[in-house]
Amino acid sequence: MNRREFVKSAALASAVTSLPMNAIEAATGTPAGHPAVEASVVRLNLRHTWTTHMSSSQYRETLHVKLTRDGITGIGEGAPIVRYNEDAAHGKEAVESIRDLLTSASPEHYEKVMQEVRKRFHGNYAAQAAIDIALMDWFGKKHGLPLYRHYGLDAADAPLTTFSIGIDDPEKTRAKVEEAAAFPILKIKVGLDTDEATLAAVRAVTKKPLRVDANEGWKNKEEAVRKINWLESQGVEFIEQPLPAEMLEETKWVRSRVHMPIIADEACLNLASIPKLAESYDGVNIKLDKCGGMQQAYAMIKTAKAFGMKTMLGCMVSSSVSVTAAAHLSPLVDYADLDGNLLIANDPYAGVKVVNGKLVLPDGPGLGLTTPKS
Ligand code: MG
Repeated sequence: MNRREFVKSAALASAVTSLPMNAIEAATGTPAGHPAVEASVVRLNLRHTWTTHMSSSQYRETLHVKLTRDGITGIGEGAPIVRYNEDAAHGKEAVESIRDLLTSASPEHYEKVMQEVRKRFHGNYAAQAAIDIALMDWFGKKHGLPLYRHYGLDAADAPLTTFSIGIDDPEKTRAKVEEAAAFPILKIKVGLDTDEATLAAVRAVTKKPLRVDANEGWKNKEEAVRKINWLESQGVEFIEQPLPAEMLEETKWVRSRVHMPIIADEACLNLASIPKLAESYDGVNIKLDKCGGMQQAYAMIKTAKAFGMKTMLGCMVSSSVSVTAAAHLSPLVDYADLDGNLLIANDPYAGVKVVNGKLVLPDGPGLGLTTPKS
């Protein structure tokens, strides 16, 4: 690109950020009203190297989807989960493979569109989530409604969110806990031989309530009971996924021997998971990326409640798109762990905010996202 082309493209870029939607389409050559689908892989840089029992990394890639119709663009995101053999590049291919469906079907009929998407995909939950969220954002924008209002929810009921502290050495753990001073509840990752040292480092600097996630890290039921009873003496409210997901009978045995609620995460994939978890777990951690979006998550929350289970909304490391989508459903749940956007340094959007630990939902239509420049 020569200087003249650079100046011209820079002028167009700056004009685009300050123009209304129809003018953007005119400037970018997309005719207003022409249905369009755009899938892209977005690299999100982590503020801290993130370590759990399962992985350690400095960035994450998520799948972003934009659906445009009638001059309105719905934005969605799905974070592919390595445990379920998903990655962003394959998610992008999956979205592109159903471009015909997404450009011909109306987002007004989001339920019907997602039924067809699920039939064609056989998995690809992150891609399902990205499409579902984009459909819902489009629908809310079209009708001028923030999504929490579309679901008949009161934004004042949005819960506190935990802030997650990944596994690290005691010195870094203490620093992370001090950095999280604004959050009244912390979620601590355990599941290694260093659990006692991790908790001691946290307790050296705070007396806050803690929630603990073992990410399937303990390998037998006796160890799980021993660790959970010890956690109880450390001011821990609940334990998430103490044993591997397939150890349902063992988890039921553990549950009968401890007082603390046990929450399923890796064991809870989608709506069909819930009935078989009801005897082994006290609650479920629902993530849009695992189940395929807001509509499935909503159905899961209702079903889990029908089984008398506690409900929690969680997230993967992702931008404000996915986290804000989950936050719009959060007035329905007992617990929220919606901090994935706070762990990254280059969030392309702003949406849900956290004020003194409480989720504050945006009031704009759809997800209510803004870009940092707007
Ligand atoms: Mg978890």
